[in-house]
Amino acid sequence: VKKNVIMDSDAMRRALVRIAHEIIEKNKGVNNVVLVGIRTRGVPLAQRIAQEIEIIEGVKVKVGMLDITLYRDDLSTLGYNPIVHGTDIDFDLNGKNIVLVDDVLYTGRTIRAALDAVIDMGRPRSIQLAVLIDRGHKELPIRADFVGKNVPTAHKETIEVTLKEHDETDEVFIGEV
Ligand code: 5GP
Ligand code: MG
Repeated sequence: VKKNVIMDSDAMRRALVRIAHEIIEKNKGVNNVVLVGIRTRGVPLAQRIAQEIEIIEGVKVKVGMLDITLYRDDLSTLGYNPIVHGTDIDFDLNGKNIVLVDDVLYTGRTIRAALDAVIDMGRPRSIQLAVLIDRGHKELPIRADFVGKNVPTAHKETIEVTLKEHDETDEVFIGEV
């Protein structure tokens, strides 16, 4: 399988530093900002963004997580049906500016499920979205506020994100299945 590296570890670090700055600027500081990573790889990305925010602003932002799994009925041509399996958010979401963090944005269905889950848990002031890669092909009116890299893909192409917390390296590849 041919793999093309579209983001190496330096590019990933720079993208996350930029996103941290953008989150701070958009929210005029981070006093009411919390991050919610979507498992698996959205969680370490959220933790890294939180680290960068702490370096820049000297404030520790809280990080929670959502566990959302995609199911696709192979017999149908309908899209994914994401199910929220679990949440680990041990802080109040009322009045907060929530930044959802995921590795890849594709159809937007996972984010829709995440929106439902966090809205059920409180009354946030706003919900924003940060993704490392936006690969296009959205099926819902959902867009990311903060994007590491826009990567137009074909449906048959897939993005592989590796992170040191789970894998050996920090890299993003594009490949075909
Ligand atoms: P969506 O719900 O937007 O269709 O898909 C987003 C979710 O599926 C993300 O949580 C992401 O992890 C996963 N996903 C969709 N497409 C890709 C891809 O090409 N590569 C990777 N690594 N994950 C993907
Ligand atoms: Mg995912």
